[in-house]
Amino acid sequence: MKLFGVLGDPVSHSLSPVMHNAAFKALGMDCEYHAFRVSTESLHDAIHGAHALGFGGLNLTIPLKEKALEIVAPTDMAKQIGAVNTVDFKDGIIGYNTDGLGAKMALKDNGVGIKGKNVLLLGAGGAARAIAFQLASDGASVTITNRTPGRAIALAKEVSRIGKATAGDIGDLKNLIQNSDILINSTSIGMFPKVSESIVTSDMMHKNLVVFDIVYNPVNTLLLTEAKKAGAKTIDGVMMLVYQGAEAFKIWTGENPPVEVMEKAVREKLA
Ligand code: NAP
Repeated sequence: MKLFGVLGDPVSHSLSPVMHNAAFKALGMDCEYHAFRVSTESLHDAIHGAHALGFGGLNLTIPLKEKALEIVAPTDMAKQIGAVNTVDFKDGIIGYNTDGLGAKMALKDNGVGIKGKNVLLLGAGGAARAIAFQLASDGASVTITNRTPGRAIALAKEVSRIGKATAGDIGDLKNLIQNSDILINSTSIGMFPKVSESIVTSDMMHKNLVVFDIVYNPVNTLLLTEAKKAGAKTIDGVMMLVYQGAEAFKIWTGENPPVEVMEKAVREKLA
């Protein structure tokens, strides 16, 4: 039997075990995936220990993703993003970041193209970094806006080395949205327990807009409700979660991930 796991602190809330175990079961693979609470101080020992024990792979979550860069050999994308969410042991200890790919696949899954599109990204935290680098490298023009403007300016400067990125004024959201094809919320606004928060309302949107909220708890956020009112196309955060996991599954096993099975497991757990 092959073991896999997610390391984090806290980690008991993670949806990854249910998602990956459903995938292993569906493919008849003799594998198990578990959650392990690991502190930042113990991360080095935990990753090397899992390697020594013959683990098939690891996911990392808060607060370990940035620290892992010092421990593993990161891919160029993980290095740019500044965080690792997937570790593979087949060829040493390699650190990937599949969050941006998860967002890209969620858009693709909904028939939304990226190349040449104007994307407005709310937020400049960990998830925003992954999405900004991925979408800019896929040919989108990314405008980043954040509560703390300095973080948006700094991220836009970094991303503009590999693609088109600028920082936008969060006080000018309505104008920024009018000039956008895709709006992505990568802040924690609207996340449980503050479910009645949204800084974007229906009157600021247009019906040709795609609104993608990466928050998945709750699945139907206030932002998505407002987007529906405006007649915009909506994408919830579940598919990004599923596809970042599916990409990790592919890296570890080389198998085609059963995405629908993984989605069903996550939606059932969230319901
Ligand atoms: P993070 O690194 O802590 O970043 C949080 C971001 O939200 C920052 O830009 C922060 O702005 C902004 N923010 C927080 N509260 C705000 C408020 N009240 N008003 C305005 N801006 C606010 O967090 P993260 O890891 O990027 O995660 C962000 C969200 O994405 C979380 O809800 C997380 O669950 C979700 N997520 C989903 C997926 C998925 O697969 N669907 C993957 C990763 C994350 P400042 O810079 O001003 O603090």
